[in-house]
Amino acid sequence: MSPKPSPLHVSILRHDWSVEEIQAILDLPFTDLMFRAQTAHRLYFDPNRVQVSTLLSIKTGACPEDCGYCAQSARHETGLERESLMPIDEVLDAARIAREQGATRFCMGAAWRNPTDKNLEQVIAMVEGVHALGLETCVTLGMLTGAQARRLKEAGLDYYNHNLDTSPEFYGQVITTRTFQDRLDTLEHIRDVGLKTCSGGILGMGESRRDRASMLRQLANLPAHPESVPINLLVRVEGTPLQASETLDPFEFVRVVAVARILMPTSYVRLSAGRSEMSDELQALCYLAGANSIFYGDRLLTTPNAESDLDRALFARLGLAFEEMDPERTEPGACHKAKQALDAIVEH
Ligand code: SF4
Repeated sequence: MSPKPSPLHVSILRHDWSVEEIQAILDLPFTDLMFRAQTAHRLYFDPNRVQVSTLLSIKTGACPEDCGYCAQSARHETGLERESLMPIDEVLDAARIAREQGATRFCMGAAWRNPTDKNLEQVIAMVEGVHALGLETCVTLGMLTGAQARRLKEAGLDYYNHNLDTSPEFYGQVITTRTFQDRLDTLEHIRDVGLKTCSGGILGMGESRRDRASMLRQLANLPAHPESVPINLLVRVEGTPLQASETLDPFEFVRVVAVARILMPTSYVRLSAGRSEMSDELQALCYLAGANSIFYGDRLLTTPNAESDLDRALFARLGLAFEEMDPERTEPGACHKAKQALDAIVEH
């Protein structure tokens, strides 16, 4: 019998995971999995601080892609009202409100297959305006060329979001208008110019546990772990091909959050879409499993999000606090990592 791995063993940053290794962690007894995830979490983060981002849809609907979960695809009859690119002053007003409510990062999403160069310049003006408000900036605009990624980096963008969505094996069941490799290529362009990466996936689309392990492997084996890893629970939007997907076992969702934390211990693991359908108890388990970032605000692009007041009430009950922006405007949370690591080892 192989020796039981030390809890600290899980904190070593690796990029060579096999699907079998990851599935073995996913299969652990729940309490063992939670212990390992919590141990990994405490090595790099204050476990009682949660980073808060706000997401704004700056261009809504009429997307030519066919992502099976998405209300914004022009190919699905979801009744979503299309909106063209928002004026910059409205975007900046929304960013100011987000900052007042405690957000440290402002994410802007546009439903494009890819931005044209003209679109990109319009978004860059927004990025510069949000940056000037003292917020971190993130955009999600679809596929990017290397030159576009460079332009965004030069304009001062902090993060680019581009999700892998699911495993390479299951991907074709969800999207046919772009390939898994297209997604990896965009992530490579982002990384190559030094932008921070936000990339994760969606659970509950009918994928198997092995698919979940395979998706996590893709993320963990990237040359650098994404700084931010959103784990989404499918929101079953009427009119989309995935509207009748089976409900995912909530413990399975928590397991995936825990494994993401173990594989990518220095990344922010974010609870994203689907949080409005989660009970307080389920969200608390996700925080215990190592989730330390949320979207805050009443809407996520086009689907409902947990209400801000409910978040504040839950945080108060759990003794959690919003992570504040580092005064030097570097990474939130970076300052306490080493101290917390030592404390965690002594405590356990
Ligand atoms: S997920 Fe993005 S790319 Fe896919 S249909 Fe929706 S807006 Fe378009």
